[in-house]
Amino acid sequence: MTIIVQKFGGTSLADVEKIKNVANAVVREKKLGNDVIVVVSAMGHTTDNLIKLAHEISDHPSDREMDMLMSTGEQISIALLTMAIHELGYNAVSMTGAQVGILTEETHSKARIVDINTNKLLEHVNNGEIVIVAGFQGVTKEGEITTLGRGGSDTSAVAIAAKLQVENPGSVERCDIYSDVEGIYTTDPRVVPTARKLKEISYEEMLELARVGANVLHPRSVETAKQFQVPMRLRSSFKLEDLGTLVIGVEKMEIYKPVTGLACDKSQVRVVICDVPDRPGNAGKLFSLLAKYELSVDMIIQSYARSSNNTNDIAFTIDKDDLSKFVSIKDEITSILNPSTVHIDEDIAKISIVGAGMIDRPGIAASMFETLAKEAINIKMISTSEIKISCLVEKMHAKQATEALCKTFELDGQDVALVHGTLPE
Ligand code: ADP
Ligand code: ASP
Ligand code: MG
Repeated sequence: MTIIVQKFGGTSLADVEKIKNVANAVVREKKLGNDVIVVVSAMGHTTDNLIKLAHEISDHPSDREMDMLMSTGEQISIALLTMAIHELGYNAVSMTGAQVGILTEETHSKARIVDINTNKLLEHVNNGEIVIVAGFQGVTKEGEITTLGRGGSDTSAVAIAAKLQVENPGSVERCDIYSDVEGIYTTDPRVVPTARKLKEISYEEMLELARVGANVLHPRSVETAKQFQVPMRLRSSFKLEDLGTLVIGVEKMEIYKPVTGLACDKSQVRVVICDVPDRPGNAGKLFSLLAKYELSVDMIIQSYARSSNNTNDIAFTIDKDDLSKFVSIKDEITSILNPSTVHIDEDIAKISIVGAGMIDRPGIAASMFETLAKEAINIKMISTSEIKISCLVEKMHAKQATEALCKTFELDGQDVALVHGTLPE
């Protein structure tokens, strides 16, 4: 028998009816003759609510206690889903990350998985049981509970599939990530209802889209699927017969469309360090300091040195969640680099277009910039990779930019996307 790893996100488990619906989806797979391992997230907005609760108690809760708190959300889901499966007359057992043996690094809040012990998992599977595993959490070798970063249950699921596959090639058929959308679309269908559903997408393109803010999949889940060639589908919990979108390694022989998808990320802030003396080593000092405090930097621009005072401006973006950490080291930066000011801009949105078809095809960047210019949208920063172009714009222009770029690059289609749940403002 082959194993199917299923993952259900918070939106699919938001209330009792939805948990019962998930139990049916799990049993449906079991009835098809597969062994099933299920990974779940916390119910609905549980993780957000736990974070809010912590901040009502403390402005700076410790990372260890945050992990202790946040990991409880998934523990509720595993127990309730297991009970719902029992009610359907099937054998199932719930397991926390620690009980499985999902071993992670010692960092709290964004720990990476180091290894997974599959012995207990397989013991239950071989007993005919459906195993329900708490996603998003792991344990260090010292027994400390860790979490993998927001949206990390996708990564738990793919990592389990990958480890089983490595130990016993051919044992895993695929990893199905169930969500509240019917697949991966050219862009977020909640923002552009005419976005087109993709039948398949390459690991590379999906990885880039996830990294630039398409939160439909956790970037590290795609990275792991790519590394271990785990076939992965994104499909709907509410339309089980729909096969959704397949994320795969095999690319078409030639790619005709330059752009496959677009993502908009409003979770970053821009920092500009103004008038840094133009001397070798200053950029190194700045970014080493940021690394020391575990601040990840995304876009970076250094301006051309002005001859009048021989200084540069260095601008970069960081995660909004890291802003308070950055503010706490601002004085240290000032004492090292002696800038005139440090400017923080929270009013930004990063719009990125992604596509393997842009390789060796000139003019894609020009089309992107011209489209934004026609809409009178100012570009604050630009960054590129082989298959991606990102532009930073003001937040109020994000929707307009998204819609205009979808038209330019033919990312919208006839089908109106079916999205379950309420649309955000
Ligand atoms: P889950 O709770 O299942 O993990 P998420 O909220 O993490 O769900 O991810 C699903 C959401 O991702 C969708 O509701 C959709 O708004 C958003 N999304 C962003 N970009 C895309 C895209 N390109 N295709 C599909 N959904 C997208
Ligand atoms: N519950 C966690 C979160 O909300 C993990 C996940 O949903 O994947 O981020
Ligand atoms: Mg998710």
